[in-house]
Amino acid sequence: MNVFPSTLGDLYIGSIHDGLQNHIDSHGASLVYLIADDHTADLCVPLLGSIVSKAHCSIIPSGEANKSIESCQQIWSQLVKAGADRSSLILNVGGGMVCDLGGFAASCYQRGIRFGHIPTSLLAMADAAIGGKTGVNFGGFKNYIGRFEKPSFIWIDPVFLNTLPPREMVDGMAEIVKHAIIGSSDLWNMLNRVEHISGIDWMNILKTNTTIKQHITEADPLEKGIRKTLNFGHTIGHALESHFMNTDHPMSHGQAVTLGMLAESKLANLTGLMGNEDFERIIGLIGQLLSPSEVTLPSFEELQYWLAGDKKKSMGRIGYSLPDRIGSCGWDIYVKENEVADSLHWLGTYART
Ligand code: NAD
Repeated sequence: MNVFPSTLGDLYIGSIHDGLQNHIDSHGASLVYLIADDHTADLCVPLLGSIVSKAHCSIIPSGEANKSIESCQQIWSQLVKAGADRSSLILNVGGGMVCDLGGFAASCYQRGIRFGHIPTSLLAMADAAIGGKTGVNFGGFKNYIGRFEKPSFIWIDPVFLNTLPPREMVDGMAEIVKHAIIGSSDLWNMLNRVEHISGIDWMNILKTNTTIKQHITEADPLEKGIRKTLNFGHTIGHALESHFMNTDHPMSHGQAVTLGMLAESKLANLTGLMGNEDFERIIGLIGQLLSPSEVTLPSFEELQYWLAGDKKKSMGRIGYSLPDRIGSCGWDIYVKENEVADSLHWLGTYART
């Protein structure tokens, strides 16, 4: 069992059968309450076995569209019915959707009750469960209502990855690649040695990945400075995700971030921030590990609506987080509209090939 203590929630990486029960008991909770989606309720909750045999449970339909205030209301009603109070403990057993939603629901219920994350998707293990961001989508925009609220603990056990569909594995890998690009040449080198995603030693990669995400979020928990580097790929990525969320063909978060990283790397390259060599290496690794979707992108004008709603906008301008080389990233970088349009044009050509 590896323990990574943190002011934003202690993180454990290892088997759930190696101490999770004791850990939950140590919270002295009046009631343990699980939140899962329909897939993780079937595939992951049973792996917890007797750990949660007496727990009450809210099961939310899977899918990003259910990361909503309506799902929160369902959870809150069920918590009231179950008699949850301030000494209860909520366990979020699921991917990033469940962790964000369950963390937010817990942080508002009775002005906040304790919660632990048991992330089950690679994306949640690598990113969503770490750092204390919780929230729901609202008005068609991603994560528009939310809170910074630290979990009591995060317990990462790669055993859950055994049932994760391959597409979701690739989505989680996108955030790991992002962490390498913005802050770790060590992780970058580890990823470059990976021949195929199916042969990865997850314990090792997740440990190195965790160190980066924890380091950045602890240094700047409220995202006033360096934490903004985690938004690399997410400005254009969220705009794409929001656009497709409002069509009949929603795009997963990981795929949107993959396309966002490609476009924003091009933006860094076009604006002269990042040289051609690093740009080509980034495009190469993304192409190899993340299989970017072949999609027809919306026009720049269509995307502008979603970019205009970006949470990272301040005083009417979007501050981009852009890498200047592999392992280093700046933030609050203001670029010209035509440079964004040119990057998206390049992405449009790339994504159709
Ligand atoms: P998700 O939670 O929707 O999970 C993706 C799919 O995988 C779902 O169908 C889910 O049921 C299924 N699944 C999860 N674990 C499984 C398992 N072990 N076996 C089989 N199926 C399983 O999405 P995600 O990709 O995990 O996370 C994306 C969400 O995370 C987005 O809402 C995004 O905004 C959020 N996010 C949050 C942060 C943060 O800092 N809070 C960071 C990154 C992403």
